[in-house]
Amino acid sequence: FSKNNGSKSITFYDSSMKHNTALKNDTIRDLRLTVKKEQFILLYQPIIDLSKNKICKAEALIRWNHPSRGFISPEEFIPLAEEAGLINEIGEWTFKEAVSQTARVMKILDNEFQMSINTSPLQYHKNGMKIDIWNSYLDSYGLSGKNLVMEITEGILMKPSSTVINNLNQLKNSGIDVAIDDFGTGYSSLSYLKSYDFNFLKIDQSFVRNLTVDSDDMALVKAIIIMAHKLRCKVIAEGIETKEQSDILFGAGCDYGQGFYYSKPLIASDFEDFVTHWDSKNTDRTKSLIPFQ
Ligand code: C2E
Ligand code: MG
Ligand code: MG
Ligand code: MG
Repeated sequence: FSKNNGSKSITFYDSSMKHNTALKNDTIRDLRLTVKKEQFILLYQPIIDLSKNKICKAEALIRWNHPSRGFISPEEFIPLAEEAGLINEIGEWTFKEAVSQTARVMKILDNEFQMSINTSPLQYHKNGMKIDIWNSYLDSYGLSGKNLVMEITEGILMKPSSTVINNLNQLKNSGIDVAIDDFGTGYSSLSYLKSYDFNFLKIDQSFVRNLTVDSDDMALVKAIIIMAHKLRCKVIAEGIETKEQSDILFGAGCDYGQGFYYSKPLIASDFEDFVTHWDSKNTDRTKSLIPFQ
């Protein structure tokens, strides 16, 4: 009986693995083609300065519209791109696309603005950062490193190698800020915070979600904000979906906010409209334009 049962489950496991491997190989093949044709889409989600009520930043978020499968989440295809050795090329495309959009937005806004770009740990471990080319690219748009923030997750900082620190220092030399993304969700110790002067700490949305009902989340958020400020980091809260969450975070000293309450990630033209129509005197946030995805 047990043998039968065992072989049954092995058969099942085996065929599902085969299916997954085939799907994965197909996806990587399609991904390679999309990289070559530069057919990704970047969406932009506004980041609000909570004290001034102004759009001071935006996060660029990549999308892949697969010809037959529709939209595939970056949570699914970025790991595949990393595995297939495509992440540096995607990083290059994202950088250029985000920079050209920054130039367009700066023409509309009358305040300082930074574009926040997600980066993969692999771009820091290998030499995936072509800082010299990036600087001249920024220059060609009349921009500087001050207009950019690179987001990294704390995982790569667990044991920062000299290559990682070297890449971070090159960013600093170009005036590019660095943010720790998804803060508090990794398994790393806090000691990495001493290895580099990070500019921003992004509180993960899992702490924001239940802020109004869970006093433990509230305690963690307050402690994170105090710690960050003592370390000369500004704080960005992710995943703000309600006015209540926004007000509580502002009250706790949080500097910037991002989330569906302000706007979903938008396609470039909608983002420009959003920036154009944003009224910093209006504290009763209107819902964003037609959400993409
Ligand atoms: P992330 O950098 O932590 O991005 C935040 C995610 O939360 C985004 O998901 C965003 O759409 C979503 N989000 C924003 N506001 C809210 C909200 O109020 N409520 C909820 N429930 N969700 C909200 P998205 O766009 O699917 O991106 C997922 C992850 O993929 C990102 O997490 C980032 O780690 C990665 N990613 C996205 N774009 C890129 C890229 O260009 N390069 C790399 N290497 N990774 C990227
Ligand atoms: Mg991010
Ligand atoms: Mg995040
Ligand atoms: Mg995330």
